[in-house]
Amino acid sequence: MTDFLSTGTLPDEYRDLALTVRDFANQVVAPVAAKHDAEHSFPYEVVAGMADMGLFGLPFPEEFGGMGGDYFALCLALEELGKVDQSVAITLEAGVSLGAMPIYRFGNDKQKAEWLPLLASGRALGAFGLTEPGAGSDAGGTRTTARLDGDSWIINGSKQFITNSGTDITRLVTVTAVTGEVDGKKEISTIIVPADTPGFTAEPAYNKVGWNASDTHPLSFDDVRVPAENLLGERGRGYANFLRILDEGRIAIAALSVGAAQGCVNESVRYAKEREAFGRPIGTNQAIAFKIARMEARAHMARTAYYDAAALMLSGKPFKKQAAIAKLVASEAAMDNARDATQIFGGYGFMNEYAVARHYRDSKILEIGEGTTEVQLMLIGRELGLWQT
Ligand SMILES: Cc1cc2nc3c(=O)[nH]c(=O)nc-3n(C[C@H](O)[C@H](O)[C@H](O)COP(=O)(O)OP(=O)(O)OC[C@H]3O[C@@H](n4cnc5c(N)ncnc54)[C@H](O)[C@@H]3O)c2cc1C
Repeated sequence: MTDFLSTGTLPDEYRDLALTVRDFANQVVAPVAAKHDAEHSFPYEVVAGMADMGLFGLPFPEEFGGMGGDYFALCLALEELGKVDQSVAITLEAGVSLGAMPIYRFGNDKQKAEWLPLLASGRALGAFGLTEPGAGSDAGGTRTTARLDGDSWIINGSKQFITNSGTDITRLVTVTAVTGEVDGKKEISTIIVPADTPGFTAEPAYNKVGWNASDTHPLSFDDVRVPAENLLGERGRGYANFLRILDEGRIAIAALSVGAAQGCVNESVRYAKEREAFGRPIGTNQAIAFKIARMEARAHMARTAYYDAAALMLSGKPFKKQAAIAKLVASEAAMDNARDATQIFGGYGFMNEYAVARHYRDSKILEIGEGTTEVQLMLIGRELGLWQT
């Protein structure tokens, strides 16, 4: 089967990286994916392998312990991992683009020196605490508060659905909190909370529909005291800064989604050639072949969308609309392809140990996390001047 990496579209260094991650995904990630999914266990050994390869440092400069690559390189790695195990891919995505990136983008020299080499090494994970019980799509509805008390912030409140927040290697959570009021509006700032701070608790993990090997917890903050210097970025800019992180993150989620969509194609092609019904391979029926052809087209179109958004971002041009489009079409491609692949696998497609069944359960969250489908449509509509808020 010809594959996109063999078309010559990508420069050699990107293609070589993608092929290296593909080998790792097939040899190390795939064999244990069903086990971790069934046991709902965090894949520490796989994460350590990704750390050894430098994947957590991909987009960061070497001076911070990174690989000196860029965000597109991260996306290529996510696409390859997303083909075989979305839980592993989201662990990398959240660790880099949500955990470490806010510190790289908005941290001062001291914060970068203290945290980035650790997070870029992959030996420690950072989490991104924006969502709250009453503030998801409307993330400005934050109720968590932080008040200055001498040289400290005192944080109270809760966050929910936070990825990578309760593993044995989680070292920090960056949270948004209301730090005051300006012109009658909430002043929202971002604060780094080391995971061993008294009063900070990662509550028991959720029992999710999918992404079972990814770590997700509700968090509570009960008079959590951190130094005033843990303020990340400018006071009052926390919400805006996190939105910038989410714009980028949408390209990464789109890449992961393309991986899922392509993984479903690959599984379906293999199975359609080998499974026989009525005395011939099911793939010789046009109904099946057309279904797979459409799946391939969806994955390809979604890939071009995230390549385009990443290219704009890397060249310093506005990319908000393109990132929203990429996230929208790629997450839908993943969900649609997962549904079709499950159909092609028949009864086996409904058995949890099959990769397509895992994609069927895992892909739904792609249409919800880092901005729902409706939020992407709101962003695109706003960019078209259809409304202001
Ligand atoms: C597994 C998992 C991991 C996650 N990881 C993180 C993380 O690491 N950090 C973090 O901060 N968050 C994380 N989240 C939270 C995620 O980003 C939110 O769940 C998501 O943004 C949606 O928010 P909500 O769940 O509050 O839904 P709501 O905002 O309550 O939305 C409910 C429904 O209403 C729709 N809706 C809302 N407003 C409108 C509108 N104006 N017009 C039309 N429709 C609308 C939504 O699209 C959705 O369909 C995670 C969630 C999950 C499930």
